[in-house]
Amino acid sequence: MKIINSPVQKVNFNNLEIFVKRDDLLNEDFSGNKARKFYYFLQQDFPHIKKVVSFGSNQSNAMYSLSVLSRLKGWEFVYYADHISSFLKQYPTGNYKHALKNGMKVLENKPLPETFDAETLFISEGGAVWEAEFGVKQLAFEIKEFAKANNIEKSEELEIFLPSGTGTTALFLQKNLPFKVLTCACVGDESYLKKQFLQLVLNEDLHPTILSASKKYHFGKLYEEFYLMYEKIKSETNIEFDLLYDPLGFMVLEKYLEENPKKRVLYIHQGGLLGNISMLERYARKPYFKFSNKKI
Ligand SMILES: *Cc1c(COP(=O)(O)O)cnc(C)c1O
Repeated sequence: MKIINSPVQKVNFNNLEIFVKRDDLLNEDFSGNKARKFYYFLQQDFPHIKKVVSFGSNQSNAMYSLSVLSRLKGWEFVYYADHISSFLKQYPTGNYKHALKNGMKVLENKPLPETFDAETLFISEGGAVWEAEFGVKQLAFEIKEFAKANNIEKSEELEIFLPSGTGTTALFLQKNLPFKVLTCACVGDESYLKKQFLQLVLNEDLHPTILSASKKYHFGKLYEEFYLMYEKIKSETNIEFDLLYDPLGFMVLEKYLEENPKKRVLYIHQGGLLGNISMLERYARKPYFKFSNKKI
């Protein structure tokens, strides 16, 4: 399977032009950030592997992408999840529903084994693994090709923006690009993100630049300003972005562009739209929810 369809689009955001790299369009099944991070496992042969084990939240994008990877490879997929509500068990939705369809086996509230046999591939939460560099390097290559085709010659002429979870993607992008990579911490605070960077690359000169949000937000919680930003980006750019990372990403980018209106920014759309289904179900109970979304 090839993951090749990721065009760059020019859009307007707050009356400023920005570029968007459409990694959400890479492949119908295997797209976005996790497709880049798990590309190594998709491309290489692992003749001795029979099973993938991972852990994390029950609506994680990584969980879904690993279920696709396992299906394609013919591997068993065992996922250690924290609590799964009886409602979700009865009415599976979003990433959880589709991962089950791909054959995922869920173990709830069970301790993760400390060691694994030689037939098991263990992937840590969110895909924060060194193997992720393989696919992110390909993304960096595509960005350099885009810059070349658009006569962007000096590294100061373009900046790359993407919101971070584990920070793995932003880190490996910065390591492989001449352009400045800007990011913000969506999971945990900035010191958590910095620590994550240090776990993968010790040289701080190769770390992305962390931009701060104006206030502290908790990952996975619903916020009116997130929902309104999601709606605003959708109506200004005609592109749907994810509801977990991108609203904060665009809030931080908005502030940055107000202070630096001359910067040319390429925003990486990291996919995650399947996760919007369960998020919109939660937002639908809020008074500010727009009924135009009800059909989703
Ligand atoms: C996983 C994910 C991220 C965060 O990626 P990291 O490499 O963990 O920083 C951002 N956006 C989306 C849509 C994701 O699925």
